[in-house]
Amino acid sequence: MFHGVRGSTACHSRDTQRYGGNTSCVSVDIGAASPIIFDLGTGLRYLNCDDLDAQPKPFVGVCLLTHLHWDHTQGLPFFKSLLHRDTVLDIYAPRQPDGVSLHDTFIKKISPPLFPICLDEFAATINFHEIGDDDFEIGTTKVMSRFVPHPGPTIGFRVTANKTTVTYLSDHQQPLGNFALTAGARELCQNSDLLIHDSQYTPAEFATKSNWGHSTLEFAMWVAETTSVKRLALFHHDPSRTDDALDVIAGRLGQIAKNRGFEVFVAADEMSVKVSAVVS
Ligand SMILES: [Zn+2]
Ligand SMILES: [Zn+2]
Repeated sequence: MFHGVRGSTACHSRDTQRYGGNTSCVSVDIGAASPIIFDLGTGLRYLNCDDLDAQPKPFVGVCLLTHLHWDHTQGLPFFKSLLHRDTVLDIYAPRQPDGVSLHDTFIKKISPPLFPICLDEFAATINFHEIGDDDFEIGTTKVMSRFVPHPGPTIGFRVTANKTTVTYLSDHQQPLGNFALTAGARELCQNSDLLIHDSQYTPAEFATKSNWGHSTLEFAMWVAETTSVKRLALFHHDPSRTDDALDVIAGRLGQIAKNRGFEVFVAADEMSVKVSAVVS
């Protein structure tokens, strides 16, 4: 389920209310007790919380965090389940080049004067796991993590469970010249049943923001086609992108994707998608 689909910053206006304005957060329900969470953007506030006024519910589960930029971490101190003492959240995130632990890096951001209380003061237990180019398992779910191009250490994830694969590449720097993929990014995407990919810019926007770390809609389409994915979710929408503009994108790229042999859709807050392996 998509809880937040925006990139860079949360936004709210009449023009963005249908697709939503929360930043990156996606949960993958694989039939286990708790879903796997991709990223901790502002959409996290709505996870495990049917009623924002209700008492906090415990959550025991895993977050696969692509990187530490604000739009991917800002929801953490607003995750209501952190107020419950039985909550245990394991966060897997890229190790930092300065050698500072993930815990200490987060504490610098979630503590006074930048936040009213320190992250360690929440009732929940939060465990950090430093990763890089790795292959590991969470229960029976296989996880592949690979560094991808983006400012600062950034990881993409490929998760496989029940013979079904979901790949999450939320922030991905498109090459400045011809379209190309790093070996790691190709490994992540190849033959995925669902690819959730950065599609922040139009070509015109990319021309003026080409080193800001993101992809165009056209590059996301090329990645999906060249790695033979079944479905592509356009994700990490620019906060300036209106609902009407996203409708036009969905219509235009939907037909192009069909001609190229895959499906495409525009991700929206609160959208649920059922993913299953296509047997052919
Ligand atoms: Zn981002
Ligand atoms: Zn980023």
